[in-house]
Amino acid sequence: MKILQNNLKLQHDLFKEEYNNKAVEVLNSGWYILGNEVSEFEKEFALYTDSKYCVGVASGMDALTIAFRMVGIKENDEVIVCSNSYIACVMGVTLNNGTPILVEPDEYDNLDANKIEEKITDKTKAILAVHLYGQSCDMDKIMDLAKKYNLKVIEDCAQAHGTMWKNKKVGSIGDIGCWSFYPTKNLGGFGDGGAITTNNEDYYNEAKVIRNYGSKRIHYENDIIGMNSRLDELQAGLLRVKLKHLDELNEERNRIANRYLSGINNDLIKPLLTRPGSNNVYHQFVIHSEKRDELIEYLNSYEVGTIIHYPIPPHLQKAYAYLGYKEGDFPIAERYAKEVLSLPMYNGMSDEELDYVIDKLNKFEG
Ligand SMILES: *Cc1c(COP(=O)(O)O)cnc(C)c1O
Repeated sequence: MKILQNNLKLQHDLFKEEYNNKAVEVLNSGWYILGNEVSEFEKEFALYTDSKYCVGVASGMDALTIAFRMVGIKENDEVIVCSNSYIACVMGVTLNNGTPILVEPDEYDNLDANKIEEKITDKTKAILAVHLYGQSCDMDKIMDLAKKYNLKVIEDCAQAHGTMWKNKKVGSIGDIGCWSFYPTKNLGGFGDGGAITTNNEDYYNEAKVIRNYGSKRIHYENDIIGMNSRLDELQAGLLRVKLKHLDELNEERNRIANRYLSGINNDLIKPLLTRPGSNNVYHQFVIHSEKRDELIEYLNSYEVGTIIHYPIPPHLQKAYAYLGYKEGDFPIAERYAKEVLSLPMYNGMSDEELDYVIDKLNKFEG
C-alpha cells in the first residue's frame, strides 16, 4: 500500500464543490486584489483566533518580516529564537538586520522557556515563540519574561491554526501572531498566503500600509517604503471555505494522532508528547528515533512516505555561516535534527492506511 506523507489532492477533494464554486465566483467577480474576499477573510480569521485584527499578507515569511519591522527590530537588536525552528523564523529577524539569539528546545521540541532568561541582554528586544508541529510554547513563562524585561513577543503560528494555550488561541497572546497558509499547513490554501493577527490597532493599521507599497489607499500615494505583500482574492476566498471546516479538520488530525499514540508500541520509536496547558492540532505527527535514518529506509521499502522537519538546524545552514556557529554549539537542536521524523498525517487518511503504517512501525527492528 503506497502511503504519502501528505496528500494535497485529498485536501482539495474533501470539499471540492465548495472550492470550485468559490473559485469561479472570484474569477467572475472581476476584482482580484484587496477586495471583499480578503476583508471578509480577515474578519473571520480574527474572530477564529480571538484577535481584534487580522491583515492578510502574501506568505508566512512576509508576516514574520513585517512583524519584526513593526516592533522595531533593526541592526544590533537581538531576538530570542528557538534553535530548532524553521529557517523562516530566523530569516524574519535577519531580513530586518536583527541578530537571532538561539535558545535550545525542551522535550516538547519547542522553545525551552526556562533557558531564555540567561540569554537576555540589554540588546534583547523580542522573543519569537514558534508553536512548532501544532502545539503551543509555554506562553505563561514567555509573557512573564517579556513583561519583566519589556520585550515584544511575536508568535509564529504557521503550524498552529487552532492551537490553544490554556483557554487562549495562539496568535492572540503576544503582540503579533504570524500565520502561513502554505498548502501543507492546517489552514492551507492553494498557493502562497499568510496573515498577521494582533490586538493592537497601531500594528493593524501599519501592517495594512506596509503590505501595499506603503500606501493607505489602493493606488499611488505612498507614505512609507512598503512592500507588495498582499493575500489575493482567490486565496482569501478559498481560505474562507476551508476555515469553516478547520475545527472538524483539526479534530480528524487528533483522531489520527490518537490512533498512532495508542497503536505505536516499539521502544525504538518515541512519539512527541503534548505540553500540559496546550492542545495539539497535529500539524505534523512527529516521532523521535535514534535509528531515524534506518526507519526512513525501512518505511520507504513499504512505500510509506515520511519527511524530516528539519534536517539542518538554522545555525548550521550555509546562509547563516556569518553568525559564526559550528557543530556542537546547539547540541539539543542538532540531536533533534538527527532524530525527528514526521509520519504520514493528512485529512482524509483512512483507518486502513493508518493501521498499515502502525503495523510496519511496530515491526521495525532497527
Ligand atoms: C511554513 C512556515 C513558515 C513560512 O511560511 P511561508 O508561508 O511558507 O512563507 C514560517 N514558520 C513556520 C514555523 C512554518 O512552518
